[in-house]
Amino acid sequence: MKNKLWKQKWAAIFAMMFILSLMYIKTFSPEALEMVEKKTKTNQRCAMCTVPLAGHENTRFSIVTKRKKKIITCCARCGLFMLHKLKGRYERAQIRDWPSNKDIDAKTAFYVTGGGNIPCCVPSTISFAKRLEAEAFQKKYGGQIYTFDQTLQNIEKIIKKY
Ligand SMILES: [Zn+2]
Ligand SMILES: [Zn+2]
Repeated sequence: MKNKLWKQKWAAIFAMMFILSLMYIKTFSPEALEMVEKKTKTNQRCAMCTVPLAGHENTRFSIVTKRKKKIITCCARCGLFMLHKLKGRYERAQIRDWPSNKDIDAKTAFYVTGGGNIPCCVPSTISFAKRLEAEAFQKKYGGQIYTFDQTLQNIEKIIKKY
């Protein structure tokens, strides 16, 4: 059992490294940000990994930038990555509460990361308005529960390795 968990962990880490190596990981320059804002005008694809957004409604992460432009990503994994790149140049961020499928403030949400239920990107990052519901989900599928700040810090740690 323990062995299997380790294998899953390593599989998740390698998948993440692979995805990250495909991404442009620096903070956006003002020009790059403008390009992203323009490109996501139609909001049909994830602004980070470009997966079509149709079918990802229950994990959707939306950001309103300082210029009042909306950026949408497929899930919290891509959304938090985007926030890292924006470096504070956003007004608000919303994520779906997994149980109710309603938009909630991304900053107050709890995130279960690396669990066995993978609706979108790896490692899966699923968000909850209530800690109790995150815990129930964790019992079922495993993973770690993090706050917004902790999840963002984790992403920054991963990025710093490159
Ligand atoms: Zn994405
Ligand atoms: Zn995703």
